[in-house]
Amino acid sequence: MRTQLPLSRIRNIGVLAHVDAGKTTLTERFLYLTGATHKRGEVHDGTTVTDFDPQERDRGITIFAAAVSCDWDGHRINLIDTPGHVDFTDEVERALRVLDGAVAVFDAVAGVEPQSETVWRQADRHGVPRIAFVNKMDRAGADLDAAVASIRDRLGAVPLVVQLPIGREDGFTGVVDLLRPRALVWGADEVLAEGPVPEELREEAARRRRLLEETVAELHPGALEEYCARGELGERTLAHALRDVTAAGDGVVVLCGSAYRNRGVEPLLDAVAAYLPAPADEADAPFAGLVFKVQSTATGRLTFLRVYSGTVRKGDVVLDATAGRTERVARILRVQADRNTEVEQAAAGDIVAVVGPKTARAGSTLCDRDAPRQFEPPRSATPVVSVAVEAR
Ligand code: GDP
Repeated sequence: MRTQLPLSRIRNIGVLAHVDAGKTTLTERFLYLTGATHKRGEVHDGTTVTDFDPQERDRGITIFAAAVSCDWDGHRINLIDTPGHVDFTDEVERALRVLDGAVAVFDAVAGVEPQSETVWRQADRHGVPRIAFVNKMDRAGADLDAAVASIRDRLGAVPLVVQLPIGREDGFTGVVDLLRPRALVWGADEVLAEGPVPEELREEAARRRRLLEETVAELHPGALEEYCARGELGERTLAHALRDVTAAGDGVVVLCGSAYRNRGVEPLLDAVAAYLPAPADEADAPFAGLVFKVQSTATGRLTFLRVYSGTVRKGDVVLDATAGRTERVARILRVQADRNTEVEQAAAGDIVAVVGPKTARAGSTLCDRDAPRQFEPPRSATPVVSVAVEAR
């Protein structure tokens, strides 16, 4: 059975945030909405599913990176949990290397905080394209424009705001999607309803839409005309241009919402699929992958692997190029929020956990025995999509 999706349907992403911005809550919502889990974890009662470690639950911060796969609208989103705490920047660096894109989460009251700046610079160094989510729009003092200004001023990024909030603070009930433009409103019953832009917001929505188009046109002169010439108009034209601008790292699409509004993060999942890039890996090459995390679990020693080229199959004997020894891949698992699914193979672009390798550590390269190669050690300044490899 082929479980491999085309690369264009895979998103390997991380959620980058200052502690307390809402990364854990947001991740929970992602997993809940994508059906990967059916119970809703809450941070305060210690039932969150991405935090494996009891110590982590106690402390209420995400310390250890783990990858979780979920499916959304025909896409597989592999969420790599990048630790947000400043003491764990090494681990952040390691996780950043395996991402193709990231969602940077900001608190709508605090805007850019010192630590979000640190992680942002790291992501810059690794060339990770990002979109931004201004969370906690329901809080007293939430201010999207101020948060956007801090993204511009403190991070030096060009914000591309694609939504307009509807209502303020605890009256925050939804967003206007400026691309379509339509209103997306959620209620207490957690249903996401779509409707026309409210009368009183039409003028402001039109103004912001023009601003968005102008900024995109400035960033990529000719881009919009080029798309129009190809016959792509309106929403899709702008969406494609935004995707290109994001991939080039020239601008940052900004969405807003509240992780407390369960269905309210659906537009963010849509944006992950629409704007963040697919893996740019080589399918028709010998197998090579990078280990970014090893976790001991009840299932055994899970070696989390990002496959950069070729295919690894269950039962393969591969080379741990870093340790200089061969290892057998006994099992390959796709790790989901509440279960592990055993798969027969994993191909370029994918993220899986393998059972079998005994010595591989975070940073180790596993590869085809006949085509040895080794990924650079962490802390490289090389963009993650073109990690240099050398035969040895
Ligand atoms: P993390 O440290 O970034 O993982 O943040 P958490 O997900 O643990 O959230 C930090 C705190 O903010 C918790 O008390 C959450 O319940 C709360 N929180 C998360 N998202 C929202 C939101 O959208 N609105 C409000 N008002 N609080 C939120």
